[in-house]
Amino acid sequence: MALIVQKFGGTSVGTTDRIRNVAQRVARQHAEGDQLVIVVSAMSGETNRLLGLAKDLSRSPDPRELDVIASTGEQVTIGLLSIALQELGVKAKSYTGAQVRILTDSAFTKARILSIDEARMRADLDAGHVVVVAGFQGVDSAGNITTLGRGGSDTTGVALAAALRADECQIFTDVDGVYTTDPRIVPEARRLDTITFEEMLELASLGSKVLQIRSVEFAGKYRVKLRVLSSFEDSGNGTLITYEEDETMEQAIISGIAFNRDEAKITVMGVPDRPGIAYHILGPIADSNIDVDMIVQNVGESGHTDFSFTVNRGEYQKAINVLRGEIGKGFDARDIIGDNRAAKVSVVGIGMRSHVGIAAKMFETLAHEGINIQMISTSEIKISVVIDEKYLELAVRVLHRAFELDQPQAAA
Ligand code: ADP
Ligand code: ASP
Ligand code: MG
Repeated sequence: MALIVQKFGGTSVGTTDRIRNVAQRVARQHAEGDQLVIVVSAMSGETNRLLGLAKDLSRSPDPRELDVIASTGEQVTIGLLSIALQELGVKAKSYTGAQVRILTDSAFTKARILSIDEARMRADLDAGHVVVVAGFQGVDSAGNITTLGRGGSDTTGVALAAALRADECQIFTDVDGVYTTDPRIVPEARRLDTITFEEMLELASLGSKVLQIRSVEFAGKYRVKLRVLSSFEDSGNGTLITYEEDETMEQAIISGIAFNRDEAKITVMGVPDRPGIAYHILGPIADSNIDVDMIVQNVGESGHTDFSFTVNRGEYQKAINVLRGEIGKGFDARDIIGDNRAAKVSVVGIGMRSHVGIAAKMFETLAHEGINIQMISTSEIKISVVIDEKYLELAVRVLHRAFELDQPQAAA
């Protein structure tokens, strides 16, 4: 008898028919004798709808109230799935995050899980119940409802699996695993049977939304056996996230391509080329809680230089305003220019550690299509470039082909 946590995403529970299908799948597995904790998202589109209602009333709604509102989406689905299970004769019981006591910090809209009380779930499981838990939500020590950031139900699933020391955490979604890139953009993308934890972490952090980045971090920290599967197809083992590199296997150099449209680039022009300038520009940005991604400082000419960095597109205007307020105070600059139509494309693979020439191949491929690279950043297992958003899909497609990711066992 195994203890399994299964998480079903928004599309998988998008209609009552689909909820019934999920219930049938869960009932079959329960009948085989497994103990099951089921985590569900809100029905697809529901979280956006709920947040939209708040935005109708205020341009900057109170984050505490946003969490009160957004968390209701998942509360509906746990009740519906429990009813669907009961209709099939399965004992099922729903819990909100607060009822489980998924304790988080108080960072509304992006709270972090601090601890999980597993006693109540464990008692229900031992009594033969399927436990149905609302994803994406928790409660802080003062009793406020919190949410875990968009896509956060993945993190609830993995965190519950860690707390319960489950045999496996299965993320059921609308694709049958992790692909070499988003199959919606590149139809030739291939499903990977396995992917290393490090690669998955990079892909998730660079924009592949199939798993929320925090869920991957959590899985790594607690060594949760994590698998991505389709909720619509019955066959297949999906993609398993592995923690050991298999030395015996021919490792593909590149495992996947991630992309992110939500980038914006800001350039502070004509700043004095002297120590402290990065600090004076980025300090106020950090103080305003704006995350900076890539940074480039150009070589100075006649004592001046240009300083560029990227931020999330949603924080672009705020960042520009912060910097405008600093000119003549924190630093001197000739001008601040920006581009909020930037995008980032990244190739990821642990094979890069032992192979040279990946960057050259990436740049050559983009050059061949006339795609200008605006910024570059690298780590041991990834290369990212910032390009004009209008070339994003083309860039992903040509890179996918150049690195032969559509071929089985790609080994460039
Ligand atoms: P859910 O609602 O189940 O959480 P998401 O929409 O959050 O589902 O994530 C699944 C989607 O992630 C897929 O439909 C796919 O378009 C997208 N995606 C992006 N990158 C990848 C990838 N490398 N492999 C698989 N899916 C990906
Ligand atoms: N419902 C939340 C969202 O749309 C959480 C999730 O689906 O994982 O972001
Ligand atoms: Mg998701």
